[in-house]
Amino acid sequence: MKKSTRRHDLRRIRTQHTYSVQETADLLKVTKGTVREWLKNGLPKLEGGRPILIHGAYLKDWLAERQASRKKPCLPNEMFCLKCRLPRKSKPASARAIPRNEKTFNVTALCCQCDARMNRIAAKSKLEQTCRSFDIQTIPQPRLTESDIPTVNRDLEKECTK
Ligand SMILES: [Zn+2]
Repeated sequence: MKKSTRRHDLRRIRTQHTYSVQETADLLKVTKGTVREWLKNGLPKLEGGRPILIHGAYLKDWLAERQASRKKPCLPNEMFCLKCRLPRKSKPASARAIPRNEKTFNVTALCCQCDARMNRIAAKSKLEQTCRSFDIQTIPQPRLTESDIPTVNRDLEKECTK
């Protein structure tokens, strides 16, 4: 089943109201299957209810929290897995850092949960920190050619003599 990534209109939920699975589905324009999946994933239902009843206040809170966590940026040792649709840690020893340009490099790793390839762009200034977070052993050395250092000095000189 395709997971919905759509944001739900939480204003439609009346917090003083209880909803059946069907009513919840109608209210938020999702399928009953989606609502059942939410229940399986922790959406609180009323104790002992048959048919299942969902309290509006809980429904609203649960969905709001879920939507907020989607926006949550990855932790320093996580990357966003497009397959899981969640920030994930990398599989041990799967991470590599590849320089992209002068200011950034690309970190690539496999998702610890589903093995999908994940990518993250990081600033070169955070290279060491990032490599430590993802346990990258081979830190790519910035291509430091002989001309690099004098260039910096020359630029500085220019700056100073302006
Ligand atoms: Zn994954």
